[in-house]
Amino acid sequence: MSEVIQITHLTKNYYTDAGEVCVLKGVDITIQSGEFVAIMGPSGSGKSTFMNILGCLDKATSGEYFLNQTNTTSLSKNDLATLRNTVIGFVFQGFNLLPRKSLIDNVALPLVYAGVSLHERRERAKMMLKSVGLEPFGTYLPTHISGGQQQRVAIARALVNHPKLILADEPTGNLDTKTSQEIMQLFSDLNEKEGITVVLVTHEPDIAEYAKRLVNFVDGKIQHDGPTTRMMEKAQ
Ligand code: ADP
Ligand code: MG
Repeated sequence: MSEVIQITHLTKNYYTDAGEVCVLKGVDITIQSGEFVAIMGPSGSGKSTFMNILGCLDKATSGEYFLNQTNTTSLSKNDLATLRNTVIGFVFQGFNLLPRKSLIDNVALPLVYAGVSLHERRERAKMMLKSVGLEPFGTYLPTHISGGQQQRVAIARALVNHPKLILADEPTGNLDTKTSQEIMQLFSDLNEKEGITVVLVTHEPDIAEYAKRLVNFVDGKIQHDGPTTRMMEKAQ
């Protein structure tokens, strides 16, 4: 076991016209390699802000964040981008696919930034599409497939760099129940069979149940943190 995420006393303030708002008010959490964590909590409690910091898309105001045992606080912008691109795969609620690019090109995109040759990019993208069950559709545009299939493409894109950690902010938020369950099964398989660490935000208990650990945010702080089953029983 090794720590993929180690966070101490993390805070985040936003500066708005109305003044300074404190959105994360001292978060401490450690996530080990191979964990499957669901983050829940009311709207506005800071979940997305927290995920953006985990993903190095945004910086904390104070506190320390070690990603894959590297202190992100002291890294240059370039080194941080390299660390992010080699360790993390992102999945968003809105899929965020490029509408005019084929599914293969969408999946291959992170490899462009990694400087991988065109031939290898296409081969690896095709393999990833196959792994999410979309091999026959490689030349299609995103608009030609369903929402569930689009999210599979987004997951394939997140996996193409072989990340240790998948971060997903409400990945099933735009999907119907059955499709959501299929996507969650895919995350479960990645976690169980490939040992990928998964951290995802959801507001649906049925979705959170796929995770082994549940973290509950309330007003910028972690209110509960424990095994999913026990917390679900407590909530009932
Ligand atoms: P959640 O994902 O739990 O719904 P967010 O992290 O998106 O919560 O937002 C937490 C709080 O921070 C909200 O009150 C939101 O309005 C505020 N907020 C989020 N992003 C910004 C920003 N870029 N500038 C100012 N306030 C923000
Ligand atoms: Mg959010």
